[in-house]
Amino acid sequence: MPFVLPWLLASKNTLQQARPGPRERGIRLEPIIRVEGLTHTYGQDTPFCRSAVDGVSLEIYRGEFLGIIGHTGSGKSTLIQHLNGLLQPTVGKIYLDGRDIWADPKKIRDVRFRVGLVFQYPEYQLFEETAYKDIAFGPKNMGLDQGEIDRRVRAAARFAGLDEGLLEKSPFDLSGGQKRRVAIAGVIAMEPDVLILDEPTAGLDPVGREGILSNIRAYQAAKNATVIMVSHSMEEIASNVSRLIVMNHGKVAMTGAPREVFARANELISMGLDIPQITQVFLRLRDMGVGVDLSLIHI
Ligand code: ADP
Ligand code: MG
Repeated sequence: MPFVLPWLLASKNTLQQARPGPRERGIRLEPIIRVEGLTHTYGQDTPFCRSAVDGVSLEIYRGEFLGIIGHTGSGKSTLIQHLNGLLQPTVGKIYLDGRDIWADPKKIRDVRFRVGLVFQYPEYQLFEETAYKDIAFGPKNMGLDQGEIDRRVRAAARFAGLDEGLLEKSPFDLSGGQKRRVAIAGVIAMEPDVLILDEPTAGLDPVGREGILSNIRAYQAAKNATVIMVSHSMEEIASNVSRLIVMNHGKVAMTGAPREVFARANELISMGLDIPQITQVFLRLRDMGVGVDLSLIHI
């Protein structure tokens, strides 16, 4: 299978660079966010209502890079929109640093500054005359002074991989990938402790994807931030996250290190998901009786 080889090599390089998760580093796990018995039902008063998220409880640890996967409609976007108070639970609670985020609804803005959410296809929400103004929107709302806003806009642009020269351009004159970076920078400029990204690389070419992912990793490392990334790409998840949650029909179906989750290939496939190519190759070799050590590939 010579055509697989370049991919395998490229992927191994990425994996060797991947940082171990908190558990592997032996650090005591400390949740920054706790979701307790969360159910969300859209259109509750309609006869065909169904819960998009159904009785989910989970903990998200400080400094981890958590991946969320699941087929379309499994409730990923609905779940993450609760973590910064954009959606309110139908049932259940969300705790940030041990405090119920809805204990005082007037303070929900502060939660949104600390937990930054980048929507899917966020470039459709750019609206200012210049990229600079778009990125400055969040810090301005936080009531920061001009000097601090400027520092944050420039730092966020660097983290998001945007040239300074693009800041004075209209977002509408930028390429698709650049617009995406402006939108990501707009959230990073709030310097959130928790950065949530809903399919941040959707629709980008492979080079653009890897660029954005390495920018996200750089932000996480620099700020010791917690990152939560929804993705439909198993390859992307395998080489970036330290822990993974699989959603199915509004519930958490599996959770664990990518290696543990991907080893349950048949269950993933029955949920309409795929496993990374490299794991497929190794599992197939194992099924053929070849003695392979799955831990070698880290997934
Ligand atoms: P995912 O992000 O995994 O694709 P979503 O959270 O977007 O899943 O959707 C979960 C379920 O909730 C789906 O059945 C979807 O049709 C439904 N849903 C999502 N958003 C809304 C909404 N605003 N109003 C009504 N139903 C919705
Ligand atoms: Mg979604």
